Amino acid sequence: MRRHRRVKILATLGPASSNPEMAGKLFEAGADVFRLNMSHLPREQLADKVAMLRALESIYRRPVGILVDLQGPKLRVGAFADEAGVMLDVGATFTLDSDKKPGDATRVHLPHPEILQALEKGHALILDDGKLKLVVESASKTKAVTRVVIGGVLKARKGVSLPDTVIPVSAMTDKDRADAEVAAEVGVDWIALSFVQRPEDIADLRKIVGRRAAILAKIEKPQAVQRLDAIMEAADALMVARGDLGVEMPLEKVPGTQKRITRAARRTGKPVVVATQMLESMITAPVPTRAEVSDVATAVFEGADAVMLSAESASGSYPIESVTMMNRIAEEVESDQVYRALIDGQRATPEMTGADAIAASAHQIADTLNLGAICAWTSSGSTAIRIARERPNATVIALTPNRETARRLTLVWGVHPVLTKDASDADDMASRACKFAVREGYAKVGDRITVVAGVPFGTPGATNMVRIAYVTQEHAALA
Ligand code: PEP
Repeated sequence: MRRHRRVKILATLGPASSNPEMAGKLFEAGADVFRLNMSHLPREQLADKVAMLRALESIYRRPVGILVDLQGPKLRVGAFADEAGVMLDVGATFTLDSDKKPGDATRVHLPHPEILQALEKGHALILDDGKLKLVVESASKTKAVTRVVIGGVLKARKGVSLPDTVIPVSAMTDKDRADAEVAAEVGVDWIALSFVQRPEDIADLRKIVGRRAAILAKIEKPQAVQRLDAIMEAADALMVARGDLGVEMPLEKVPGTQKRITRAARRTGKPVVVATQMLESMITAPVPTRAEVSDVATAVFEGADAVMLSAESASGSYPIESVTMMNRIAEEVESDQVYRALIDGQRATPEMTGADAIAASAHQIADTLNLGAICAWTSSGSTAIRIARERPNATVIALTPNRETARRLTLVWGVHPVLTKDASDADDMASRACKFAVREGYAKVGDRITVVAGVPFGTPGATNMVRIAYVTQEHAALA
């Protein structure tokens, strides 16, 4: 089974899709990676969900990616004496403090002492997903007196976002740590960290999971945008998490930020996912709006590695239709006549490494000869990712002896991972590459393919060889 597009589709599982039959249908419709959201999934159910998704691998004989999304610290205000909440009028004074007493129209408990300590005059507090906004007028260690800038009703335990404040705590709660341990234990491929502010947040998660899972940094805070380079360096992939990003910064700044993050990720070769509200109206309708189609198309034209569905596939009425629609948009965009020019316009220059020199050469050879496949022997997946960074026309067939690598690469632009034992010598390397190119539908007898490898075989990081191989009748017979 092969896809007819380079961009990958990440589909969130939830009540509408969390059973073997639906997961299979989503996979058939185009989902390459499944997201399990720990904001909703009880930890005890994680192992069962992973087993359910792994079962798809034997049915479809393809690697299936699994991403676990950690909830992260959800900051909330405390309770009010009146269940209906309080009305905050524009211009009024409102205090957040360390007093646990139920709140009223003048004050409320903020059950996060570390935030009270970090707030400074001029910092904004965004409440209830952007519905209300307060600005700090004076702050001490135990209370912040604010002015209401956008008013409305504030109810108990509504969320608090802090676009200006660097909170001196890890992006991980005790729940996140326990979830991450179980996720690594049950062998998920990617773990996404929410509300990342600093590269140290990634390091904290890395201490728990080691190399058992790759780490994706969700960029959803302006503080993370400011430190993007360092966060990219620490993480294995990025997500433009537009839901919270749109709460923490003015909405009109989100598209430009999305473009900058996508381009920075492409430059460094870190896979990047564009997420949230991509086909939002399909939660309740069988067709999306024109604007949503255009939004998915924008991410594909920019060369993002993956586009994501949240509630559309998790809890909406049309999960399969949503994946099908995303697949159709991606296929159409990638065959549009302006697509190649836009992708090439952002082509990253090779870094001064042997691996990048080989990746650029493989791309050049495939382009010059109009080849359908670049077969890369890869153990960590890094060679395939560096070739994908070139965004070549040819599909990157990643041949790997590591099941974990094959699964992780399901998230990467243009990569078709295949699990197979390592090549034993140069002939085996070329002939099995030809065999797989035919078997997977990317070449036929008489075609040529590009083959990339590291010699001696099985040495990670030794990418040093590129060659052209002819597909013969014998290769086709083996396929
Ligand atoms: C987002 O905020 O866009 C996002 C993907 O995170 P979550 O769905 O966990 O809020």
